[in-house]
Amino acid sequence: MRENIPQTFPQPRGPISSLFFQLQMVFIVAFLVATLFTAATPSGLIPSNISDLAQNAPLQPDTSQEQANQPPLSSQPRIGIVAGHWGNDSGAVCQDGLTELEINLSVATLVKQQLNDLGYEVDLLKEFDPLLEDYYANALVSIHADSCEYVNDQATGFKVAAALRSRQTQNDRANRLTACLRARYQEATGLALHNSVTNDMTLYHAFDEISADTIAAIIEVGFLNLDRQILTQSQDKIADGVVRGILCYLNNEDVNTGN
Ligand SMILES: [Zn+2]
Repeated sequence: MRENIPQTFPQPRGPISSLFFQLQMVFIVAFLVATLFTAATPSGLIPSNISDLAQNAPLQPDTSQEQANQPPLSSQPRIGIVAGHWGNDSGAVCQDGLTELEINLSVATLVKQQLNDLGYEVDLLKEFDPLLEDYYANALVSIHADSCEYVNDQATGFKVAAALRSRQTQNDRANRLTACLRARYQEATGLALHNSVTNDMTLYHAFDEISADTIAAIIEVGFLNLDRQILTQSQDKIADGVVRGILCYLNNEDVNTGN
């Protein structure tokens, strides 16, 4: 109501009312920002995912930082899938307009669907998703694809890298996830393991943001140039390879962990 406006925004008269006024403004701004963020959530982009995230992610928002980082009590394994570059940029771009982001997002969406069908909880995450901060899951896999430039005939195949961890137990588990992804992805797609792992992969930003208990890996599913056909026309195989790699890790399947 109009007559209430002067009461809501009083003129500050002294130090105390000035402080009170500032506090009021802080609360009003915080409320508006919170409302805007809630309203701006692009729930239409990925069906049912974002609202699931909003409901499931902050397990106990009022607990201390240490407690919040503990694995959830739910017996259902939780998997995080980052669709590389989603929400930030298009990644590698081909001359005809095909983007890495398109490939990453549709593969990541297929992976999420397959894992959901198998009964797993899956968070489909953006490249710089706010949920990545202290994010806990049984495994986190970030999906990317390599350059669309023609480099040479060896610029084909996939790469997998783990997060660099300081604790030995975490390294063992990270190596297992990496080995599982390499073995199962190769079986499912027939693509060869490309033997170079760039700094971009091992220094991947999300690895620093997530909970230290979350075992994470990044996979470059293929090169947009020479592997274009399988990346665009057989995405079911690509997704299947990632899903099988994750299941291999979760189920402790026998796999050669030697690099
Ligand atoms: Zn990328």
